[in-house]
Amino acid sequence: MSFFRPNIEAMEGYVPGEQPQEKGFIKLNTNENPYPPSPRVLKRIRDAVNGDLRLYPDPTAKALRETIADVFDTKPDRVLVGNGSDDLLTIIIRSFVGPRGKAAFPTPTYSLYPTLCRIENATAAAVPFPPDFSLPEKLARTGAKVTFIANPNSPSGTMITPLELGRLARRINGILVIDEAYVDFAEDDCMRLVARHKNVIVLRTFSKSFSLCGLRLGFAVARKELIAGMIKVKDSYNVNRLAQVAGVAALKDIRTVRKNADNVRKTRARLTKALESLGWFVYPSQSNFVFARVRPPHTPEECYTELKRRKILVRYLNDGLRITVGTDAEIDALLKNLRDICAPRAFENRRKKR
Ligand code: PMP
Repeated sequence: MSFFRPNIEAMEGYVPGEQPQEKGFIKLNTNENPYPPSPRVLKRIRDAVNGDLRLYPDPTAKALRETIADVFDTKPDRVLVGNGSDDLLTIIIRSFVGPRGKAAFPTPTYSLYPTLCRIENATAAAVPFPPDFSLPEKLARTGAKVTFIANPNSPSGTMITPLELGRLARRINGILVIDEAYVDFAEDDCMRLVARHKNVIVLRTFSKSFSLCGLRLGFAVARKELIAGMIKVKDSYNVNRLAQVAGVAALKDIRTVRKNADNVRKTRARLTKALESLGWFVYPSQSNFVFARVRPPHTPEECYTELKRRKILVRYLNDGLRITVGTDAEIDALLKNLRDICAPRAFENRRKKR
C-alpha cells in the first residue's frame, strides 16, 4: 500500500538536465547563459547579504513589480513575480486547471507542462506540432482551461508569430499562457497581446538572458483580475530578499542583458552554419540553443554519448540534439569534437569495437 495519491504514485517526476558535480565539463545542456550577470547586480546582491535576512521578504515584491512595470510599459498590478517561471507555471495550473481539469500544449515542448498536470491530477491534451513546428490547428479546439505555448519553443527553438497567437487567444475560451523564457534571443515578442486579450498571460524569466537562473526569478504579466486571483494561490514569500534586490538591479542594467543576448545570437548563427556544413538539419532558432537532426549514419545518441565522454554535455531529446549556445571558445571545442566524432574513420572504428 502506498501513502501517496494514486496520480503521484503512478507518475514519473520531471527530469532536469544533468548538473554534473564533477568539474571540467563544457555545459551546453540546460540553456544557461554562458556570460555572467552584470557586476552591478552582483554588488547589489552582496550588499543585501546583511542582518536584514532575519526578516521575511516583501510578500508583494512592490519595488520589483514597479521596476518590471516601468521597463515593460505596464502597471504593477498586472505583474506577479515567482521563484523562477516554474513557480508561476505551478500557480497557473493550481489557479485555473485543478484536478480533472484540462490543460493543452503542442508537443514536443517543455516537459514540465505534462508533469505539472500529473501532479495536479489534471488531463494533459498534447497536440503534436507539424514537422515544421508551426502552430497546430487543433490546439484551438481542445476545450482546455489553460493552453501553454513556449515561444520560442523548446527543444525546437522555433517561434510562432504574435499575430497567430493573438488569433489563437481569440478562438479559445480558456487562458493562453505564452511562456517567453527565451524571447530575448528572438526577433519579436507577445507582451503587447496582454493589453489586447483578457485571457493572455505572458511569462518571462531572469534565468536565460539575465544570466540569473541560480537565483530563481520569473514574472507573469496579465490583466489585473487574473493577477489578483493568482496572488491568492501563491506562497506568501515566494521570492526571497536577494532575488528581489537582484531583479531590480538587473532591470536597471538591461544594456548588459542586451549585449550578452547579441553575442549569443552571433554565436548561434555561426554554430548553425557549422552544423549545417556537417550535413545536419538545424531548425531556425530564435533562442539560446539550437535543435539539430544528426545526419545518418550517425545518431544523436551516439553523438551525445561521445561528446559526454569528452566532457561536453548536450541534450539528447526527441530524436535530435539540443545544444545550448555557449561562448565562442566552448562552441569551437564542441565543433572540433563533433567533426572528429563524425569523421568516417572514427565512425568505422567505433562500429568495429561494438
Ligand atoms: N519555460 C521554458 C520553456 C523553459 O525552458 C524553462 C527552463 N527550463 C522555464 C520555463 C523555467 O525557467 P525558470 O528558470 O524561470 O523556472
